[in-house]
Parts: sequence; structure tokens; C-alpha cells
Amino acid sequence: MTNSEQIWLKRFVTSFYATAKKMKERKMWETSLCPICNMSVEDTNHFITCKDERATDQYKKSTTKFFQHLQKVYQNYVTKELMTITDVI
Ligand SMILES: [Zn+2]
Repeated sequence: MTNSEQIWLKRFVTSFYATAKKMKERKMWETSLCPICNMSVEDTNHFITCKDERATDQYKKSTTKFFQHLQKVYQNYVTKELMTITDVI
């Protein structure tokens, strides 16, 4: 996972990322509508449930990459733990 992807993920998990709703509240955007589908207020919930094909495609790509990262980290963790256990034995 790249640094920018890690930063984005931390912001997403902690809800500290800029949705259109937050950008409108901060008076940085004129609308709070989703910039992809332009049909609903883009808040945290809409961010992951937008039904526009471009959003669902990106969601699938991002979650696939994220789960591959977790799988790699988990495998490294399990491997490290197994090595520790075998050192003790
Ligand atoms: Zn949308």
C-alpha cells in the first residue's frame, strides 16, 4: 500500500476525509451533491454506497487492493509468529 493510500485509509476509517457534505460545510464547495452521481448528498454513508457504476468499480478495485494488503500483512504476521514459536521449541 502506498503512503497516499495509507493516509487515505486512515482518514476514511476515522471519518477525517473530505466528503462533498463537509466541503460544503467548510464553504469550499457550492454543493454537497456527490460529484460522481450528482444525485445524493455525499456523506460518509453515500461515499461507500453510491450506486453509480464508476463509484462501484472504484470501490471494488480499492477494497480488493486493501484486502490483498491485509492478506499479505496477516500472512507475514502468521509467518513471524510461527518462526517465533519454532525458535522456542
Ligand atoms: Zn453518488
